[in-house]
Amino acid sequence: MLSLILHLSLILCAFCDLAEYKSKRDKLIEDEYRLTLGGNINLTEKEIIVNNCLMQYKFHEVDYGFNNPKYFNFSHHYFSYREKIGQSKVYRIIKDMPKGAALHVHDMGILGPDYLMNITYMNNLYVCLDKNVNLKFSNKTPQIPCEGQWQLISKIRETCGNVTKFDAELRKHFSLVVDNPDVVYPSITESWSTFMNYFITVAPMLTYRPIWEQYFYDVLYKFRENNIMYLEVRSILPKLYELDGTEYDPLITAKAYRKAVTRFTKDYPDFFGAKLIYAPSRQVDKVTVEEYIKLAKRLKEDVPDIFAGFDLVGQEDLGNPLIEFLPQLTAAKGDLNFFFHAGETDWYGTSTDENLFDAILLGAKRLGHAYALPKHPLLMKEVLKNDIGIEVNVISNTVLSLVRDVRNHPLNIFLAHGLPVVLSSDDPGAWEADPISEDFYVAFVGVASRSSDLRMLKALALNSLKYSALGGQNKNDANKKFITRWNDFVEKFNCASY
Ligand SMILES: [Zn+2]
Repeated sequence: MLSLILHLSLILCAFCDLAEYKSKRDKLIEDEYRLTLGGNINLTEKEIIVNNCLMQYKFHEVDYGFNNPKYFNFSHHYFSYREKIGQSKVYRIIKDMPKGAALHVHDMGILGPDYLMNITYMNNLYVCLDKNVNLKFSNKTPQIPCEGQWQLISKIRETCGNVTKFDAELRKHFSLVVDNPDVVYPSITESWSTFMNYFITVAPMLTYRPIWEQYFYDVLYKFRENNIMYLEVRSILPKLYELDGTEYDPLITAKAYRKAVTRFTKDYPDFFGAKLIYAPSRQVDKVTVEEYIKLAKRLKEDVPDIFAGFDLVGQEDLGNPLIEFLPQLTAAKGDLNFFFHAGETDWYGTSTDENLFDAILLGAKRLGHAYALPKHPLLMKEVLKNDIGIEVNVISNTVLSLVRDVRNHPLNIFLAHGLPVVLSSDDPGAWEADPISEDFYVAFVGVASRSSDLRMLKALALNSLKYSALGGQNKNDANKKFITRWNDFVEKFNCASY
C-alpha cells in the first residue's frame, strides 16, 4: 500500500514539475515578447478582431513555408516572387492599414518604369544612344557630348518600325528587374553599378522643371494610396532646367518640392505633408562637402518649413566614410540635423562598418539602414540611450546584394531588442516594388517572428511619426491624425473582404 502511495505521489509530482516548467516557459516567452517592438501594446477588442484575421493569414503563409522550405518565397530573390505578392491577403491588409510616414526614400527612385515610360511620350524629348541611354528635354538638338546621334524620341518611334520592341528595350534602362538576377548581379558591384546607371539615365529626364514638379506630386499620390500620410524624401537636389537650356540654382529644386507639397495637401487635405533631406553624393572631396554644407544651411534659412536635414549618399563600400569629412561635419553639427546612411554593408570591421560609430558620435537623429549595427553591442546601447531611429529598407537590402534570404536580415534582431525601427522603401521604383506596402509585408512575414502581430505593425507606424523631423505641435497633430485614421481602419475592417 505504502509503495503504491509513494508511486502515485511521484507521478503527481512529475505532473507538478511539468506544469511548473510549462508555466515558466510560457512566462519566459511572454516576457521576451514584451521586449520586442510593440510587444507591450495592449490591443482593444476591435483591434483583436483585426489581429485574429491578420494572424490567421500570416500563420498560413509562414507555416506553409516552414513545411515546404523550397517554396518559401522570402528565401529567394525578390524578383522571383514580387509579382505574386498581390495575391497575399496579409499584403492586402497591410496595404489598407494606415502606416504613418515613410522616412527613407530617394526622390528619383520612387516611381517605376511604367511611369517613366509615359514621360518618354512627351514632346521635346531627345535621346542619344551610346553605352548609356542619354535623355534630354530641349527645344533644339542638345549639344551634350554623346558618341551617338541626338534625335527626337518621337521621330525614332515613327521610323523604327517596331515601337513595342523599342519601348521594351528602353524600359529595361528604367528598372533593375531581370529574369535571372543571379547571373546578372553576382555581387554588390553589379547590382550597384546598374543602380547607379539607372539614376544616370533618369535624372536628365526628370530634372526638366515641369516634369519634376509633377513627378513629386505623383510620388505623394502613390504614397497616399498606400496609406502613408507624411514623407521625408532624400534628394541630391539636382539643377532643374527649361527647354531653352536655362538651369536653376538647387534652391529652386527645393522650392519646386514645396510647390508640389502645397498643391498636393490642398488637393488632399488628409495628407499631412513632406520634408526634404538634402543628401548629395559621398564620393567627393572635402571642399565639395563644404559646399554641400553651405547649401544645406541656405536651405535651412530659405525653406525652413520643408528642410529636415543633411545626409551623404552612394555605395558606402566605395567611400568616402564619414570620418573623411569629420572637420566639416563637426563644424556643421550644431546647425544641421543629420540623417546619415551608415553601416549599409556586409563587411565587418571596415570603414563602412565604422561609419556607424561616426554617425552616432556626430549626433545623427536617425541612421539610414544601420544594417551592420547588430555586430556592435555598445552602439546598440547608444541607439537606445539616445533614441536614434533606424531606417530599415528590407527589399533594398536584398536587391542591392546584402542579403538573399530575408530571414537572415538584421531587422529581426532590431525588433527583438525593441530598437526604434522605422520601415521604409529606399528606391522602390527602381526594383518595381510599390511605394512601401511590399516592404512592410516582406518585413512582417519574412523577417519578423512568426508571432509578431498587429502590435508590431502599429508600433512601426507610430515610430514613423515619432522619429520624423516634424517638430512639436506638428508632431502631435500628425499623431492625432494617425490615431483617427487607425481607429477608422479598425472600425471598418472586414476580414471577409480580403
Ligand atoms: Zn538610401
